[in-house]
Amino acid sequence: VAQNPSQPEFHQAVKEVLESLRVVIEANEEAYRRDALLERLTTPERIIMFRVPWVDDKGQVQVNNGYRVQFNSAIGPYKGGLRFHPSVTLSIIKFLGFEQVFKNSLTGLPIGGGKGGSDFDPKGKSDREIMAFCQSFMTELCKHIGADTDVPAGDIGVGGREIGYLFGQYKRIRNLYEGVLTGKGLTYGGSLARTEATGYGLLYFTRELLKLNGIDIAGKTACISGAGNVAIYAAEKATEMGVKVLTMSDSTGWIYDPDGIDVAAVKEIKEVKRARLTEYKNYRPNSEYHEGRGVWSVKCDLALPCATQNELLLDDAKALKANGTIAVCEGANMPTTLEATQYLQENGIIFAPGKAANAGGVATSALEMSQNSERLSWTFDEVDAKLQQIMVTICHNISDAAEKYGMKGNYVAGANIAGFEKVVNAMNAQGIC
Ligand code: NDP
Repeated sequence: VAQNPSQPEFHQAVKEVLESLRVVIEANEEAYRRDALLERLTTPERIIMFRVPWVDDKGQVQVNNGYRVQFNSAIGPYKGGLRFHPSVTLSIIKFLGFEQVFKNSLTGLPIGGGKGGSDFDPKGKSDREIMAFCQSFMTELCKHIGADTDVPAGDIGVGGREIGYLFGQYKRIRNLYEGVLTGKGLTYGGSLARTEATGYGLLYFTRELLKLNGIDIAGKTACISGAGNVAIYAAEKATEMGVKVLTMSDSTGWIYDPDGIDVAAVKEIKEVKRARLTEYKNYRPNSEYHEGRGVWSVKCDLALPCATQNELLLDDAKALKANGTIAVCEGANMPTTLEATQYLQENGIIFAPGKAANAGGVATSALEMSQNSERLSWTFDEVDAKLQQIMVTICHNISDAAEKYGMKGNYVAGANIAGFEKVVNAMNAQGIC
C-alpha cells in the first residue's frame, strides 16, 4: 500500500489473491522470501504511460491519458485487453493486468499478462473522432508491442471498430502485417468465435461447474448484468442451453423480461444502433425498464455479472441468498466486492471468479495468435470445440487445486493456486529477472 498509494482496485485484487494463496505461500515461505517472489509477482515488469492528443469534430485538440501495463512475461508474451472508459486510472489497469497473469496461466496456453487503455470516453463520439483517437493512441503504443512481445485485445469500450483502427495505424507505422492485436475483423486475421468467446466460455464453464456439483443447467433462470460483448453472448449461449435469462443492464438502467430476454433485440439496440436499453420495450411490451441498479434484486438460480468491477455488493449478495440463488459466476473482471464474495462463499452459494470463468475470451485470443502465426484460419466449430475443452479443463483444474490444499469448493482459492503455480515455476526457472 505504501509503495502504490491511491490504487484501491489494485490493492483489492492483490489482497484477494494473496489471502487465498496463504497455504501455498506458508509452505514455501523461506524460498519465496529469499527470492522476493511475491514482490516480483505484484510489481509489473513495465508500466508505460503516455499522452494521447487528438482533434475532435469542432477542430478542438483533446488530450487523454494512455496506459499499458506489461505485468508478467514468465510464460509468454504479454496479453490482455485495452479499456477505453472515463473511469480508467493506473490502479484499474494494474488490477486488470495482475488478474490477467493468473487468468492467462489458467488457460494452459503460452501467454503472459498485461492490460492497457485510456480515460477516453467513446460514448457520443463520431466514427472520425474514434479513429483519430485510436490512431494517436497507437502512434505511441506501437513502440512497445509486437506479435512476440505484447498482443493487446479489446475490453470495455474497445470492440471490432476500435481494433480495426488500431491495427491499421500499427501496420502503417511499423510496416508489419503481424498478429499484434486480437479481436480483429474476419477479413484481416480475426478468428471465428472470438466475438462470442467470453460469453460462450462463461456458460461452458458454468454448465461444467454445476455438473461437478450435481446440478443440471437446463431449466434454470439467470440474471445477467451488462449489455456489451460479454453479456450479449452469455445471454445467447444461456438461452441455447435452456436457461431463461431474466435481466440485462447498461450504465444507466436495467431490463426485466419475464418471458426471457430477446437476445436478437438487445444485439440490435447495442451493436447496431449503439442505443440505450430504454428501447427494449419497443421490442417486448411485456418487459420492464428501471433506471439505476437493481439486477440482483430479481429472483434467479444463476447470477452472471458481466458489466464491470465492483457491481455486485454485499447487499446484492444478501438479496441473492434470500432469493435462493445457487451460483454466481463472474463474466466481468472482479465484479463482486471482497465482502460480497466472502458472504456468498460462507452462505453456500457456488462462486466462480472471473479469472477462471471469463478466461474463454483470452484463450480464444491465443487461438487467434496461433492462426495468425500459421497464416491459416480455423472453422467456427474448430475454435468453439477448443474453447469448450479449455473451459471444462479450467473448471476441473481449479476444483482439483482447491481440493489438493484442503479447500474443496473454494474456487477462488483453486483458481489463484492453479494460476500461480505455473507462473511461479516459470519465474523460478528463469532466475531473478
Ligand atoms: P463492453 O464495453 O462491450 O460492455 C460493457 C457493458 O457494461 C455495457 O453494457 C456497459 O454499459 C456496462 N458498463 C460499463 N461500465 C459500467 C459501469 N461503470 N456501471 C454500469 N454498467 C457499466 O465490455 P465487455 O463486455 O467487453 O466487458 C465487460 C466486462 O468483462 C469487463 O469487466 C471486462 O474487463 C470483462 N472481460 C471482457 C472480455 C472480452 O472478451 N470482451 C474478456 C474477459 C473479461 P453501456 O452499454 O451503457 O456502455
